[in-house]
Amino acid sequence: MRIALFGDIHANLEALEAVLEDASKQSVTDYVCMGDIVGYNADPAACLERVRAMDCPTVKGNHDEDASGSHSLENMNPVAATALEWTRRQLSDEQRQWLRRLRMVRQVADFTVVHSTLDQPSHWNYVTNRFDAMSNFSYQFTQICFHGHTHVPRVYIKNDRVREETTDSLIIEDGAKYFINVGSVGQPRDGDWRACYVIFDLDQRLISFRRVEYDIGATQRKIYTAGLPEMLAERIAEGR
Ligand code: ZN
Repeated sequence: MRIALFGDIHANLEALEAVLEDASKQSVTDYVCMGDIVGYNADPAACLERVRAMDCPTVKGNHDEDASGSHSLENMNPVAATALEWTRRQLSDEQRQWLRRLRMVRQVADFTVVHSTLDQPSHWNYVTNRFDAMSNFSYQFTQICFHGHTHVPRVYIKNDRVREETTDSLIIEDGAKYFINVGSVGQPRDGDWRACYVIFDLDQRLISFRRVEYDIGATQRKIYTAGLPEMLAERIAEGR
């Protein structure tokens, strides 16, 4: 069984389609969505419908929550807030309700999935180093937990201590716990513009990070046409 774990799509339809096409070529049979389907880029409704039609386990991201609510966004950074206000207008009430009902944590096969962290999933904490990862591990009762949120692919491994790795692939070893950030489909922030996702081969216990090129020019044109902040088009080209 080969499962694709993909998230932080952020309304980037070209990146999402490229990832799904790559996954099908890699003999993936099952899919898990890590949340943040919408926000930032110009195709929120189309990305939502694409993921919904897949009918796969999906957890809620902070942008899904903000896009589906009607609360004030004034404490948020202005670019994200502008994009979210715009996103709210693009989605139907029914689509927003679908986002609102997504669960924060899911267990799939023998692993757990969360957008941010297991210790306080609704606080949307960012794990950027091994010290941040430690509090998550106290609440992680499966050997592997996949997450997203920082848009930076990374692996945190706990045995007698916690260490972090950036890698293209790894084998899951007995006796260790893994907290794995699958990176971002639609807005990577590790300096590589290509869409990022993970394939987990359950039989081989093999984790593979995939990078996929897509038609970024098309995504950028849609951002300009929508009147979204131009820096959103610039940042996806730089992977930041
Ligand atoms: Zn995100």
